[in-house]
Parts: sequence; structure tokens; C-alpha cells
Amino acid sequence: MEDRSLAARRADSGIDMSGRIVVITGSNGGQGLAEVRMLADAGALVIATDVTEEPSPALRSALEDTRSISYRALDVSSKTQWAALAEGAHQLHGRIDGLVNNAGVTRRARLLEAAVEDLRRVAEVNVEGALLGIQACVPLMQPGSAIVNVGSVAALTSHYPVAYTSSKWALRGLSGVAAMELGSRGIRVNAVHPGFIETPMTASASSAFRDASRAETPLGRAGAPEEVAAVVLFLLSPLASFVTGADVPVDGGQSQHGGAKSVSDALLP
Ligand code: NAD
Repeated sequence: MEDRSLAARRADSGIDMSGRIVVITGSNGGQGLAEVRMLADAGALVIATDVTEEPSPALRSALEDTRSISYRALDVSSKTQWAALAEGAHQLHGRIDGLVNNAGVTRRARLLEAAVEDLRRVAEVNVEGALLGIQACVPLMQPGSAIVNVGSVAALTSHYPVAYTSSKWALRGLSGVAAMELGSRGIRVNAVHPGFIETPMTASASSAFRDASRAETPLGRAGAPEEVAAVVLFLLSPLASFVTGADVPVDGGQSQHGGAKSVSDALLP
């Protein structure tokens, strides 16, 4: 059953992704779920995935709204599970048109306390997961397909959680190499870098972190998952046909000022 307001919402975004097959990782909640909903509203057939055997209640309700979304359990750090996902997409659709490497984890240990295990575990999901996703999906991608990797403002700055920041810088490097190597196949690869977004990942953030993040953000507030999803939708769409290898901050201006905001604010009369 197709959601009756679907056509209206597709017209709202002005982006038509009708019939495109899009794989999104980490879609149980937060930004992944917003991306699933927005891509489906734009007409895409979305293969929503997450590490759990069953979808979260929020994702289940999106699944119940429309037949354009299906769910598959996928641990992004498993090469075998990526191979099974690609095989399923091949059998069902014959191709994949879009991939969003959104799944991510964080560990907040600081420089002198962080264990090598922290770096490894975060990299396994945030970096290796994206590499395995690209390797599994690219053979099914035609010219005109696109990949979006979800980085972070941490990939543009020296954000304090060292394991997370290191992984997001590595993911940014991976995105650049992928954009360079896949350009000749007509496949675009871009990275979006969210600032402070209200999601399950940041739900446990302290009030000190919230206040400091807001103070460093020119727009003066946290972002919503839909504000990241809208940029992901654009980058996957034909409207972005000459955009590849880009690092796109979606951070209310946080990464742009290079620390100058606190100086500027301190000098305000
Ligand atoms: P989230 O915790 O809601 O989403 C992350 C998802 O990844 C979860 O659904 C989780 O189950 C899934 N996941 C974890 N390990 C996995 C694995 N091994 N395989 C498959 N899925 C796995 O948080 P979010 O904020 O929506 O995060 C989405 C992305 O945005 C992440 O890459 C995160 O690093 C990035 N990000 C978030 C913020 C923020 O402020 N929320 C800021 C910058 C970047």
C-alpha cells in the first residue's frame, strides 16, 4: 500500500528518485531512519539495514507506511553479510543505484585513556564497514549511481573523542579515494559531515557538551536528522550529477570558523 501523501511529498522535495534502489546502513533510528523515510518519499526503493535481526519499532512503523521500504539485518563489519545483501539485491532488482554508509559508533575515551581496542572497534564499523559496503555494492552499480558516506564534523576538526575522530578522518580519506577511482565508472562518491544532531547517539551527551556545541555553532542550535537526510537525498539524486569527491558539512556552520567564533563572541559589546 503506497502512502497517499507520497506524491505530494515527492513534489515537496522536488527530487524524483522513482525506481532507484538505495541501500542505507544503520537505519533503525536517528539520521538513518530519516534518510530511509526521505528517500522512500522521493520514490526510491529503499533497502533499510541495521545490525539487529528485527527492525526497531520506529523503522517498523515506516515499513508499515509503504511497500517501498524493505528491511535486512546487516552488520556492516561482516564481509559475508555484505555479500549476502548484494546477492539479494542482485536477485531482486539486478542492480543498486545508491548506497548510504550511515552506520556509525562512537567511544568517548580521551587521548591518554583510549585503548587500542577503542580505535579498532570504532574503525571496524565506521571505516571498514564503509569499505566493505563499497566493495559489495559497486559491482551492481551502473553509471549514474552514487554513494554517500556519513562522516562528521569530527572529520574536519580535532574533536576530542580520539577513536571516533580518527575513524571519521579515515572515512574521509576513503571517500576521496573512492570518488577518484569510481569516477570513470560514472559513480559519484561524496561525504556529508553532520555537526551536533539530536539522535540516539547524542541522547546521552552531557549538558556541557550540548552547551559548548551550541556555542560553537553559528546557527546556535542542534540539527535535526531530517536536515542531514535532505543533503544525502540531494547528493544521491541526479541534481548532483557533477558533484563528486565533496566534503559537505551539515553543521550549522560549526566547522567553518576554525575556532574564531568564541573569540568573536568574547568581543561582543
Ligand atoms: P544512531 O546511533 O542513531 O545511528 C547509528 C546506527 O548505526 C544505529 O542504528 C546502530 O544500530 C547502527 N550500527 C552500529 N553498529 C553497526 C554495525 N556494526 N552494523 C550496522 N549498523 C550498525 O546515531 P546517528 O547520530 O543517527 O548516527 C548516524 C551517523 O551520523 C553515524 O555515522 C554517526 O557517526 C554520524 N554522526 C552523528 C552525529 C550526531 O551528532 N548525531 C554527528 C556527526 C556524525
